[in-house]
Amino acid sequence: MKKYDDIVVGSGISGMTMALILGMNGRRVLLLEKSPHIGGSIARFYKKGIPFDTGFHFTGGLQKDGILYDLLSVLEIRDLIQPVFLSPDNAHSFFFESEGRRYEVPYGIENVKNRFKDYFPGEVSAIEGYFEKVRHVCDNTPSMNLRTLFSQHRLLDEDLISLEDVLNGLTQNPALKALLSGFAMCYGVRPDEISFANHSRMCHGLYQSVAGVRNGGSSFIKAFETKLKDYEVEILCNRHITGLADIRDKKAGRFILNTGEEISGDNCVFTIHPKEILKVLPERYLSRAFVDRVSSFESSAGFFSVFAVLNSENEDTDFESSLFSIFPHYDINRLLDPAYTGTPPLVLIKSIERTEGKTCRTVTAFETSFFEHVKAWKDSETGKRPQAYHDYKKSRTENILERIFTVFPEYRNTLEVIGSASVLTFRDFLNNYDGSAYGIKQKVNQFNLKGKLPLRNLYAAGQSSLLPGIIGAMMSSLIVGRSIVDADRYNKFLLKNLR
Ligand SMILES: Cc1cc2nc3c(=O)[nH]c(=O)nc-3n(C[C@H](O)[C@H](O)[C@H](O)COP(=O)(O)OP(=O)(O)OC[C@H]3O[C@@H](n4cnc5c(N)ncnc54)[C@H](O)[C@@H]3O)c2cc1C
Repeated sequence: MKKYDDIVVGSGISGMTMALILGMNGRRVLLLEKSPHIGGSIARFYKKGIPFDTGFHFTGGLQKDGILYDLLSVLEIRDLIQPVFLSPDNAHSFFFESEGRRYEVPYGIENVKNRFKDYFPGEVSAIEGYFEKVRHVCDNTPSMNLRTLFSQHRLLDEDLISLEDVLNGLTQNPALKALLSGFAMCYGVRPDEISFANHSRMCHGLYQSVAGVRNGGSSFIKAFETKLKDYEVEILCNRHITGLADIRDKKAGRFILNTGEEISGDNCVFTIHPKEILKVLPERYLSRAFVDRVSSFESSAGFFSVFAVLNSENEDTDFESSLFSIFPHYDINRLLDPAYTGTPPLVLIKSIERTEGKTCRTVTAFETSFFEHVKAWKDSETGKRPQAYHDYKKSRTENILERIFTVFPEYRNTLEVIGSASVLTFRDFLNNYDGSAYGIKQKVNQFNLKGKLPLRNLYAAGQSSLLPGIIGAMMSSLIVGRSIVDADRYNKFLLKNLR
């Protein structure tokens, strides 16, 4: 039986971060992945030779001294990741279909504020008030800065109030409220359910800068693979834990795998969905309150996605990597409700990809969707789904294309659909509990599963622990790493590469 210091379950960006942190701190680490390959949501895929990303398209924090810049520095992989910043002046457009209004949102906090003030001259104090509150939250959240990561964290008033309530206190303007809630698509939770603090933590970086990365998610995976090898982290794919054994003094001694292999480890960190963790923990060690808490977590929104490429002969000089959100109306709460049956929000990600000497202009369309929409086919498998499911995909794809052509009529004869994916595709491809994009729904007054679990040498990290997005997922591992590595050593490790 092989023995490790630490076992990390799940090789998405949080699992790879966790395994690398532990490896860099001199520990013998095993990274276990259920799929045949590592990377989870940030894996890229190729169709007809064209690259598309699954779950990483853009991020904040890549500017010098931004939080992701710092995270990559600590992990010594910053030089392997090449940011591609979107155009600062109009990185993100929002179009409201029923009102026919379009807003171009830049980045750089002062630029965003000024643009909003141009659009809403009567709302200057609401705009100032909103950005002041966002700044207050971020300045008072130690985990928003690696240099203060382990200072005392206290709950803020903004952790206890919803985004919706704060916005209602600032303005009655529905368009401004919708724009200030627009990044809800990056965490998949209704404004009346997410706390203002978590909304701020998710958006602040995106107000500062927006960037993709050359070669998308695969450049992260390559960088991690190189470093994990340097630190002799072992990786086993097609494996998951089916049981725990040798439990003494509330510590698991042996981990039984789906292949029948047994391994031993001093610690095990799960970076997978909390409800999947619950399946592995032996019932007799769990309190009723713990089981109820985990069972009550709801799902964030997922997406129905269309992957397409522009095939025009002529070079389209207007085509830039950018984001374009299309909302049917201003009521974001309704739009992010699983029971809503109207036209959903649609986010278009335009990207210029250079691969094998060729330049491709891709358009990836994400329309919000929930498990409820595909529940009828929940027991079917990829490649064996019934005709009704294919009809559903065809009809949703056609509707999405028509919505794209309304905004970009010039694409009607040049946009070629390469593929599509439903919430079920995401569920099965990513071994993800419910196909949601961002793990559990982050709600006001909710205590996520983070850090120590009921067995003392088991821990939870990952997007559902702290916050979603690659930054939230990586930060969750950085925080949990402190519980495993000696504190002095960990502080030195964190500060070594930060200037
Ligand atoms: C469509 C979409 C678009 C997105 N766009 C962006 C974006 O542009 N920017 C951004 O920052 N974020 C984006 N996100 C969110 C981001 O991808 C996630 O928040 C982040 O990648 C989650 O990382 P993770 O490691 O916590 O989880 P995951 O990436 O889900 O990784 C979990 C891993 O665990 C494995 N696994 C599951 N169960 C087991 C088991 N029992 N045993 C072993 N392994 C197991 C899975 O196969 C997977 O590899 C997007 C997500 C989606 C779905």
